Amino acid sequence: MRFWRKLLASIFLGVLAASLLLGLLESGRALAQTPATYTVQPGDTLFVIANRLGVELAELAAANGIADVNVIAVGQVLLIPGAESSLPVIVARPGDSLADLALRLGTTVEQLAALNQMEPAIRLFPGQPVQIPPEAPGDTELRFGAVTNVRLPSQIVQGRTGRLAVQSSRPLSLTATWNGLSLGIQPLSATVASGWEGTLLPTSALLGPGFFPLEIGYAAGNGNILSRTFSVLVSAGPYDSQLIELPDGKGSLLDPEFTQPEIEKLYALWAVNDTPLLWSEPFSRPIGLEYPTTSPYGTRRSYNGGPYSSYHTGQDFGAPATVTVTVPGAGIVALAEALNVRGNAVVIDHGAGVFTGYWHLSKIFVTTGQVVATGDPLGLVGTTGLSTGNHLHWELRIYGVAVEPLQFLEEGVGEWRVEIGD
Ligand SMILES: [Zn+2]
Repeated sequence: MRFWRKLLASIFLGVLAASLLLGLLESGRALAQTPATYTVQPGDTLFVIANRLGVELAELAAANGIADVNVIAVGQVLLIPGAESSLPVIVARPGDSLADLALRLGTTVEQLAALNQMEPAIRLFPGQPVQIPPEAPGDTELRFGAVTNVRLPSQIVQGRTGRLAVQSSRPLSLTATWNGLSLGIQPLSATVASGWEGTLLPTSALLGPGFFPLEIGYAAGNGNILSRTFSVLVSAGPYDSQLIELPDGKGSLLDPEFTQPEIEKLYALWAVNDTPLLWSEPFSRPIGLEYPTTSPYGTRRSYNGGPYSSYHTGQDFGAPATVTVTVPGAGIVALAEALNVRGNAVVIDHGAGVFTGYWHLSKIFVTTGQVVATGDPLGLVGTTGLSTGNHLHWELRIYGVAVEPLQFLEEGVGEWRVEIGD
């Protein structure tokens, strides 16, 4: 277990650990294409196979859920325990047990314990790598009950947004829960094939990397909920880290009394997701191309040496206070007022749980409840609120999760059509 010991040592090197684990996850997934498996041949016994592969018979049996070592079938594919480098790895989240991981991945505690040569009741520490079976959902698993087809991304890069599309044989009241976040499923726009419904899968820039559960379900005729949980890989994003030192006087600006009321107000807005889809084309840029990004989305932030527990939730464009900010896509103004931290702020509801926000404006041109169209002027760039110079902070929230907004300049709702392939 040289590999394992080396890994353990690295974890305690703190900063090094993060990059190592990310690298490990990547290589683990890459190698998962050729998992360490063995296909049972005529004349094989489990004892002979274990001997040939140099693994313990009991481990081989446990890793494959084989109760009776005398019962194996020709053609059966066996996982080879102990072949660490060829198995995908996920990292434990705070409070995770093997039972939690097994539930999330749709496997058993016994199998995870055997693959990792751990006690089933072991306490995992956050960030601990755990090897998992090299299972990729096949097409046959992407249907259940009246759900005839599920299209979900094989992976989503941290901070970006995935798309889920579900087809059913009859009208269903579908639900989707993405890593604990309850999502509204709605019919996709008219440009997409009928019979499909869908939703966006937002990821925070700090989520994972690792596998996260997506549960899709509906109430069957007898009132029971029929559901299936899929695992979606969230892979590492390209984000930088930034240390921010706030002088003593300014530290008070992070005082919850100053920041909390508007955060609560905004999260209450972002929780509304019953507005139907109001846009379909890719968004247009809310500010001219001549105004470059001065601070990108996703940068992890540590305040006064604290943990990197927050990130830049939007994209900053540097521009003078005379520059007009325009609406990127059809929507309804959900908020237009002065806030403590964000200054003069506008929030637009685009439907399907998608909101865009514009902070630090010097002037606001719109009012709450106003219906707006692409290109409408909504305000002027400014430096109101907690800001050190004129710029536009543009952010995009889905069910309250701040995602990479630039993705929406490239992709419209019609992208679903491509994924469904009609
Ligand atoms: Zn910003």
